[in-house]
Amino acid sequence: MDKKKVDSYKKRLLTKQEELLRLVTKSEQDGREADEEATQDIADKAANSYTKEFLFHQSDENRRMLQLVNEALERMKNGSYGQCVACQEEVQQKRLEAVPWARHCIECQEKQDQGLL
Ligand SMILES: [Zn+2]
Repeated sequence: MDKKKVDSYKKRLLTKQEELLRLVTKSEQDGREADEEATQDIADKAANSYTKEFLFHQSDENRRMLQLVNEALERMKNGSYGQCVACQEEVQQKRLEAVPWARHCIECQEKQDQGLL
């Protein structure tokens, strides 16, 4: 892949990384605050645990994506960026355009979505 392309993906990955780090840190803080605001009121408690579950789920998603972004940056360092981690073929440019942290080419992603990989 030509260097200019890699650089532009790298920029996007770094922006995404920063954004996700902020979100993950924020939802951890919100989770703690929700804890501190907890009272003995049962209705409050229920609302609180719902909020926490929601925040937890959300931060889980963000954390997973952050992991993918970190891995993509890692692959850039060792020169395997843009290669499908399953079949080693080049990941389609339009796929990287849409998802610069993609690990799989379109075919392998489809297989993975169907539980075949
Ligand atoms: Zn593949």
